Amino acid sequence: MGKHAIVVGLGFAGTVLARLLADSGFTVTAFDRRPNVAGNMFEYERSNGVRVHMYGPHIFHTDRKYVYEYLSRFSAFYPYSHRVLGQIDGKLVPIPFNFTSIEKLFPQNQAEKLKSELLEHFDPDSRVFVSDLLRHPVAEISALGQYIFEKVFRNYSAKQWGVPADSLDASVLRRVPVIIGKDDRYFPDSIQMMPIFGYTELFENMLRHPSISVHLNSDALKRVRPHAPSGKFLLDGVPFDGPVCFTGSIDELFDYALGALPYRSLELCLEDYPVDYYQNATVVNYPNEENFTRITEFKHMTLQDIPNATTIMKEYPIAFHPGGRMVPFYPIQTDENRSLYSDYLSLCGKYDRLYLCGRLAEYRYLNMDAVVDSALQVFEKIIRDRDYE
Ligand SMILES: Cc1cc2nc3c(=O)[nH]c(=O)nc-3n(C[C@H](O)[C@H](O)[C@H](O)COP(=O)(O)OP(=O)(O)OC[C@H]3O[C@@H](n4cnc5c(N)ncnc54)[C@H](O)[C@@H]3O)c2cc1C
Repeated sequence: MGKHAIVVGLGFAGTVLARLLADSGFTVTAFDRRPNVAGNMFEYERSNGVRVHMYGPHIFHTDRKYVYEYLSRFSAFYPYSHRVLGQIDGKLVPIPFNFTSIEKLFPQNQAEKLKSELLEHFDPDSRVFVSDLLRHPVAEISALGQYIFEKVFRNYSAKQWGVPADSLDASVLRRVPVIIGKDDRYFPDSIQMMPIFGYTELFENMLRHPSISVHLNSDALKRVRPHAPSGKFLLDGVPFDGPVCFTGSIDELFDYALGALPYRSLELCLEDYPVDYYQNATVVNYPNEENFTRITEFKHMTLQDIPNATTIMKEYPIAFHPGGRMVPFYPIQTDENRSLYSDYLSLCGKYDRLYLCGRLAEYRYLNMDAVVDSALQVFEKIIRDRDYE
């Protein structure tokens, strides 16, 4: 019968694994419960012609050249540097906070003083963290850190996570960058590209292989079940001897036996307008006013030339409840939740042909490049582990 593998989920984790396994001689049966491939990278065209990302804006950025080279086998890419503005005190300023933001928000004399203080203590064009400013001995610098924390971070994070900002893990603070110069790119990575015809086509190209059979609208857990007594998985009730690559939620795999892993979700609302452009940047953040956190205008990202039509997306953070219609987007990283996750990992340890990969199975926020990298590594492990027949 030859080598046979199962892949659950067709986001980047499952799709890269399916392709690598098929290229190395496996027959792959792949499932996704959604009606489409591409997971949270799913992109489609609206009736006005604008391509949108159904699960929030996704920008490919990486320093891992080998990841980009691997994906380039399946699509051409175009350069795209992501830029974000934030509405602070009624003005639109670059985010991450940079020298232009300082010039727009402070009187000229004060702005000049702040910039020269920053240049005296930090490297030009470097990215530092707001926590570096907050604990700085120079009073003007720590006051600037406090200003950025209050105006850019505090309310945004409270909205995002649904908890008071003071109760957020201090490590989150470290991740708020401030740029010592005028670079206004959101990401510092050396590679910032987008697939030329969108993510969905990239995924379809990866899955176009005679040894991959794709089953959509298909909840894998109705057909693929862990069987504790044998330490094997059953496919349609029959013991399965090949690798099972699981990229869904690990708590769901075990019927929430130890409880549900908490996530934060988003309500994503699309609006069409009969105008050329709605705003001056791909993303505008609203840290303080409004119930939503940000607005994305996709045409700035797809670079489509469509007159008198545009589409925007507003993001409203909300709670996630398993079994409901919401998507589990962001794992809520607390010690308690990490400990619950490692209890689930212990359950997985009984199944030596089970391979976990991706943001849900690993219960971590992972960028796309990290997920592709993880899939490349999981594939190596599958090949190393044993001679699957
Ligand atoms: C709002 C938002 C914006 C983001 N923006 C960026 C960005 O700009 N750049 C970036 O690099 N990263 C970004 N990310 C991260 C990116 O979304 C993840 O890296 C990516 O989704 C991970 O892919 P994955 O395959 O692990 O998961 P997913 O894409 O979620 O794929 C998992 C798939 O498994 C399927 N599945 C689960 N369980 C089952 C089952 N039992 N049976 C069948 N199918 C199942 C699901 O339907 C889903 O299609 C963003 C994340 C969010 C939340």
